Amino acid sequence: MLPLVALVGRPNVGKSTLFNALTRSRDALVHDQPGVTRDRNYGVARPEGKRAFAVVDTGGIAGEEEGLSGATARQARAAAEEADLVLFVVDGREGASALDDEILAWLRKTARPTMLVVNKTDGLDLQAALNDFARYGFSDVIGVSSAHRHNIDELIDRTLARV
Ligand code: GDP
Ligand code: MG
Repeated sequence: MLPLVALVGRPNVGKSTLFNALTRSRDALVHDQPGVTRDRNYGVARPEGKRAFAVVDTGGIAGEEEGLSGATARQARAAAEEADLVLFVVDGREGASALDDEILAWLRKTARPTMLVVNKTDGLDLQAALNDFARYGFSDVIGVSSAHRHNIDELIDRTLARV
């Protein structure tokens, strides 16, 4: 079985964009129909010359309609609880929010190995963007831009070092 990596975070931080950046492969591009990749929850990252790993986009972790206790959120939590590594995705432009704090509190309870992924760092002062999340106390932190594929290879390497 492939190691499972779960993308967890509040809506709009770029989880699905990161999912697409990680799971996009030549095969996927050839075989997927337009519009399908976007909505898919599970995928496989096959980085060239490196180990493959499964990725789940837990889009509903903080579903706006149901809140943190809704059925969609519960399903997302179950996926995260099974993961070998959780990528806690936050928005470097908006900085830490109350909802991020809530998700972090829940993540600490699951006690899964977790890396903090500060997304949307394109055009930002990277250190300032990371500093905003320093109080979360992660030792494993990385700034990326999923939309521009910046630092995604480094994220993959650091993910594979932990799964
Ligand atoms: P999700 O709700 O967490 O799945 O977030 P999405 O992947 O749907 O992205 C939400 C919005 O953020 C979209 O408009 C994306 O284009 C945008 N976005 C995602 N990643 C980045 C990034 O690295 N940089 C910038 N500037 N925008 C991004
Ligand atoms: Mg999404």
